[in-house]
Amino acid sequence: MTRGEHGISREDISANALKVMYRLNGAGFESYLVGGCVRDILMGHEPKDFDVATNATPEQIKGLFKNCRLIGRRFRLAHIVFGREIIEVATFRGHHQESDEDENVPKAKVVAKRDSHGQLVRDNVFGSIEEDAERRDFTFNAMYYSVADFTVTDFANGLAAIEKREVELIGDPETRYREDPVRMLRAVRFAVKLGMRIEEKTAEPIKPLANLLQNIPPARLFEETLKLFLSGKGEVTFLMLHEYGLIEPLFPQLAPFLKDENSREMQFVRRVLANTDERINSNQRVTPAFLYAALLWYPVEEQSQHLQSESGLNAHDAFNIASGEVISRQTQRIMIPKRFSTVVRDIWILQQRLPKRFGRRAFQLLTHPKFRAGYDFLLVRGQVEGGDLLELAQWWTHFQHADNGKQKGMLNALRKSEGGAKGGPRKRKRKPAKRGPDA
Ligand code: ATP
Ligand code: MG
Repeated sequence: MTRGEHGISREDISANALKVMYRLNGAGFESYLVGGCVRDILMGHEPKDFDVATNATPEQIKGLFKNCRLIGRRFRLAHIVFGREIIEVATFRGHHQESDEDENVPKAKVVAKRDSHGQLVRDNVFGSIEEDAERRDFTFNAMYYSVADFTVTDFANGLAAIEKREVELIGDPETRYREDPVRMLRAVRFAVKLGMRIEEKTAEPIKPLANLLQNIPPARLFEETLKLFLSGKGEVTFLMLHEYGLIEPLFPQLAPFLKDENSREMQFVRRVLANTDERINSNQRVTPAFLYAALLWYPVEEQSQHLQSESGLNAHDAFNIASGEVISRQTQRIMIPKRFSTVVRDIWILQQRLPKRFGRRAFQLLTHPKFRAGYDFLLVRGQVEGGDLLELAQWWTHFQHADNGKQKGMLNALRKSEGGAKGGPRKRKRKPAKRGPDA
């Protein structure tokens, strides 16, 4: 496509990306904008970032830019850093060859390697632009824009896919998913993000192959799940993942609770994701911890019940042990960095503590650093489960906004109506707390 046939002008492109391409071209290399940025500009969206592909090797790129860092193990890439903007520059990738089988291929070229599931574990073969295009995931991600002649080269009929509004893999879908199972998640992510459906042949193998996601390193899945759930369309994404059987390999402990579309567990997760979407779309802060706390809440509750009835642990200990177990099982699939998992546990512990409001406790809870998250969490639980839980959440809604006199009144009223009931002072006498009254 020439300049007149596509809608891309230099105005749409980051000045830094242009600088990078002019410098590469000036040094005698080819360079192109490629991937999401070309797709987004052609669809009339503003690109999130700008990726460049080139026939220069990482070392040659480094030689041209002072502000260049080489990164990546699986793929080696150059990052050209301009303050807060990073232009990612990748050398054209070639076809993967099976190093063990093909003795005729020179060793230096053979750095792609597959494991027993067909997954690529090492992948640094340089190639031509055509090969680079074939190795990309979806047809609409293999369009290349050149500033040398202002043309767009559409190697895989990506434009047609955009017109049909279809997410379509390049090549044989099963092979492509086996090479990199994360492409299944990307198919869903792009379908939701771009408002498309997944083309039939691309959709078909997802359910049968979903379990291959078990072979992906937990750290990579953490990054991918953030992109899925913190996109501003998390609820729709979750439902589509569920439809394609992709929740099971990601959250094996949650999946059994989702069999019934109308279950309170499903309602709860949807509501939390919908709230998260709302916050993101109005530029409010969100934390992955809240999301993980929600996705794993019912598994923890169930496990805690189970421990109480099986091993006679008290509620407090059972809950603590269950929390640890559920988190540790989850991190075998998806890594949860410590700074988030501690907040997950804070939110859960607050669910145990918020019902206990007598005496100073209510005031102490208000000053808990995670009170807000714990309260928000309780509120969604209350909205979904109703009954006492909703009343409790509403009590906290009023309490936190009341003045001191009113707060004392609320606590007195509570004592009168519930005096001696669960969580009341009498219980504390019966079972002295080991770690002080507020442990
Ligand atoms: P977004 O706008 O969400 O960033 P994107 O298309 O730019 O979408 P990236 O993850 O930034 O997605 O990847 C950039 C490009 O690299 C993609 O457009 C695609 O061509 C290629 N790519 C990324 N991940 C894969 C993959 N797992 N397999 C094959 N190609 C991939
Ligand atoms: Mg991108």
